[in-house]
Amino acid sequence: MKYCRFQLDGQSHYGLVESVAGREEITRLLLTAPEETGGDMEDLATKRMDHIPLAEASLLAPVRPSKIVCVGRNYREHAEELGNEVPAEPLIFFKPPSSLLARGENIRRPRIAQRTDYEGEMGVVIAKTCFQPSAEEDIRSYILGYTAVNDFTARDLQNKDGQWTRAKGFDTFCPVGPLVTDEIDPWAGVAVETRVNGEVRQQGNTRDFIFPLDVIIRYISQAMTLVPGDLIATGTPKGVSPVVAGDVVEVSVEGVGTLRNPVVDE
Ligand code: MG
Repeated sequence: MKYCRFQLDGQSHYGLVESVAGREEITRLLLTAPEETGGDMEDLATKRMDHIPLAEASLLAPVRPSKIVCVGRNYREHAEELGNEVPAEPLIFFKPPSSLLARGENIRRPRIAQRTDYEGEMGVVIAKTCFQPSAEEDIRSYILGYTAVNDFTARDLQNKDGQWTRAKGFDTFCPVGPLVTDEIDPWAGVAVETRVNGEVRQQGNTRDFIFPLDVIIRYISQAMTLVPGDLIATGTPKGVSPVVAGDVVEVSVEGVGTLRNPVVDE
């Protein structure tokens, strides 16, 4: 199933997204937050509502994570394009929840940054508490679903600071959405594409991950407890480049849809 979070009459709601006559529509309200179900999205209680086309909805970021954990350099060709070694184990860093942004909202380029890059990525939403799972456990049971993320980055500050917190952490630097789905399989392969002003800049597939998702989740949860609703950004394919005010970035993840955000100056 697919769900989104949206605003209606001044209140935020979760909504079930279904295809109606070839168009995606929000068809029902979800009466509990999906991340509170332990991964059983099919059992969510729903309430009837007037359908809203997804394209016209006032979407909110579909996740409310306690933390956003990102994987750096998880595609070989992207590591190489920035002149980096292919890592021997996952490289992880945080973005703060204050950087979250919904579909359609403006990414604000900070005045102090010279170069700001998009990074189109598939995102993973955690279903249930995960800390050092045993080797026999199926990691899929910890996953609620998948979404699209733009791991927006102030590249010059990333290089200057060494630590990535500031470069990755500005407000508006984590667009997420438009929805969360459990109907795709990143192990089998999910296409990730980024366009700037309609021109294709990145085309990757999750089957080319250096570290598959089970390895990533086990690695992160060796160190820290993942809790329901936490978001993992799984790394970007090759093709990152700068964007400026006036550009529009679209990250499309197969089965999720398109996360579209204009870029403006602060
Ligand atoms: Mg990234």
